[in-house]
Amino acid sequence: MIVFKKASDLKKHLEAIGKKHNKIGFAPTMGALHQGHLSLLAESKKATGITVCSIFVNPTQFNDPRDFQKYPITIEKDIYLLEKNDVDILFLPSVPEIYPNGTTNLEHYNLGYLENILEGQYRPGHFQGVCQVMRRLLEIVEPDHLFMGQKDYQQCMVVKKLLEIMESKIIFHHSPTLREDDGLAMSSRNVRLNEEERKNAIAIFKALTFIQKNIHTGSLMNNITEAKNILLKSDFKIDYVEIANAETLQILQQWDGKQNLVALVAAFQGQVRLIDNMLLRES
Ligand code: AMP
Repeated sequence: MIVFKKASDLKKHLEAIGKKHNKIGFAPTMGALHQGHLSLLAESKKATGITVCSIFVNPTQFNDPRDFQKYPITIEKDIYLLEKNDVDILFLPSVPEIYPNGTTNLEHYNLGYLENILEGQYRPGHFQGVCQVMRRLLEIVEPDHLFMGQKDYQQCMVVKKLLEIMESKIIFHHSPTLREDDGLAMSSRNVRLNEEERKNAIAIFKALTFIQKNIHTGSLMNNITEAKNILLKSDFKIDYVEIANAETLQILQQWDGKQNLVALVAAFQGQVRLIDNMLLRES
């Protein structure tokens, strides 16, 4: 694996190894890698000739500076895992490399209603930051295929919207969420949970599974209330529990039995904010 810190060096290298003859697959990450990240990279390796992973903790997408400061950094272990999984290239830029003119007064993207619901409502500016970094990374790597995780459901929709805005031909792939044995979605933030919080954290999976098992046409509110109770019993502080149209992310209170649905949760276990989601079908 070759590690690049400078965008210009990475670009030159990709030109030299013949971008035209090799499809490039790209999985952007913020590091503290786990099997979820590695599954994206494995998909890229299957579908493309050159797999690029980036590790960059993007300051512009953190609305809470404490969350940014506490974001886990495990770069040596990450490099070991990437090597072991035969990733071709790691892009490891500094903040000035991505934002040479600083991180304030950056461009704004029109993301429509996606910007202000769910994550957008609770993390103002977050998706602007996601688009700002994604655009820069995509312009540097120029991938043919982009691999992202369904774990960040709304982020996938936002990035698809960004690709539309950019009139990009990049092919977007979303990969299923990898979970620990007890159902907790793998996340870099999980290492910040203490023993008790880690045990409590499985309530998110229980709440989502409850909704999935009990979904029926008509009002969705009883399911949402019960899912919230499951979280509250495990000491979660809830940002939201919602059920939405899986294609548009329009939030629903009633179901006609026809639309595909996704249930989405964001909640704090202690200081750690966890998100998860599950696609639903009629039981
Ligand atoms: P992050 O490092 O958290 O920004 O995540 C980088 C990429 O990995 C994003 O596309 C995430 O959606 C994806 N990802 C994170 N956790 C998981 C997981 N448990 N399963 C699959 N993909 C994941």
